[in-house]
Amino acid sequence: PPRGAPLLEVRKIRKAFGGLTAVNDISFTIRAGDIVGLIGPNGAGKSTTFNLISGVLPLTSGEVELLGQRVDGRASRDIARAGLSRTFQHVKLVPDMTVLENVAVGTYLRTKTGTLRAMLGLNGAEEAQARAEALRQLRRIGLENQAHELAGNLALGPQRLVEIARALASDPSLLLLDEPAAGLRHQEKEALAEVLRQLKAEGLSLLLVEHDMDFVMKLTDRIVVMEFGRWLMEGTPAEVQASPAVRAAYLGA
Ligand code: ADP
Ligand code: MG
Repeated sequence: PPRGAPLLEVRKIRKAFGGLTAVNDISFTIRAGDIVGLIGPNGAGKSTTFNLISGVLPLTSGEVELLGQRVDGRASRDIARAGLSRTFQHVKLVPDMTVLENVAVGTYLRTKTGTLRAMLGLNGAEEAQARAEALRQLRRIGLENQAHELAGNLALGPQRLVEIARALASDPSLLLLDEPAAGLRHQEKEALAEVLRQLKAEGLSLLLVEHDMDFVMKLTDRIVVMEFGRWLMEGTPAEVQASPAVRAAYLGA
């Protein structure tokens, strides 16, 4: 889609877990080429919002449109094929597989039978193609030299980048990142921010949940703020930083 065109439209999405409404009629739009932040205190409903958008959890109500197509109610694998990829809040690499193999798993989302078992049953040509694609994604994030190391031997910063490369291997238009900077050291955060800026320059759109305010403010074009499952405000980083309501939410006032 051309830069600025609506890519993801989220309309009044809601998720109730029994009596708890974790996500309460949240609406926002992501435009092609934007980096959007989703912030809010712990328990605000950010990860659940990701799970609803990516089809990991069924919606209680509301609509999600990706590239003009309704995707709510679809399986997460179908949504991934439609152009949305994500990482999870906790790193989910296979530690005793190589970096390259971990990324190659992501390319199977594009094949008909996107399972690990199918991966093991690939013919030679398919496997070679998946490895070549994985290597291309590792180059994109500057990790090609670690391709043959075991993922479990990498530091946390590079592991996060591998997760991102794996998510990129399904060739998304929109990438959702859940707390990508959590636990990283300063230098690792800088390296991550640089990779994300580069992806944006390549035309990818990003939605990121992040606690590190400095990281969010420097990187995003717009920010959506949630509190107790509800939409609190949306604006530029400067507008969000200046908002008394946001300050109050974070101070628990
Ligand atoms: P955040 O990512 O903003 O910290 P979450 O989306 O993880 O918040 O959680 C929002 C609220 O929903 C929390 O009160 C949490 O305990 C609750 N919650 C999340 N997932 C579930 C679940 N599977 N079952 C019941 N409650 C849940
Ligand atoms: Mg969370």
